[in-house]
Amino acid sequence: MLAAQEDRSCTWCDHLLDGGPQPVVVHAECPTHLICRACSVAARPHRPCLDCGGPAASPSPADGREDVFMGAVTIYTRLRCAACCRADALRGTVGGGPFGNGV
Ligand SMILES: [Zn+2]
Ligand SMILES: [Zn+2]
Repeated sequence: MLAAQEDRSCTWCDHLLDGGPQPVVVHAECPTHLICRACSVAARPHRPCLDCGGPAASPSPADGREDVFMGAVTIYTRLRCAACCRADALRGTVGGGPFGNGV
């Protein structure tokens, strides 16, 4: 993963340069592009599903399909479509679970 990130230089939105200190948002589907909170919100309707690549079609955080990992200086988010989110929820609660420990 580190090697993949070193292959491509990172890009970022202009707001991070002239907006003063602020959190940096990283989208899981595009880990080398760093953006501000406003751009992340604006990009949400156009973001793809991380699992299947189709349109996630998530207009707001209220649908609960975005996973957000808050770091010290970066906010990492991944978004999934309704179908993949449902499938993942089933994997997590029924059967062997995502880690294969059978519990
Ligand atoms: Zn921005
Ligand atoms: Zn999907």
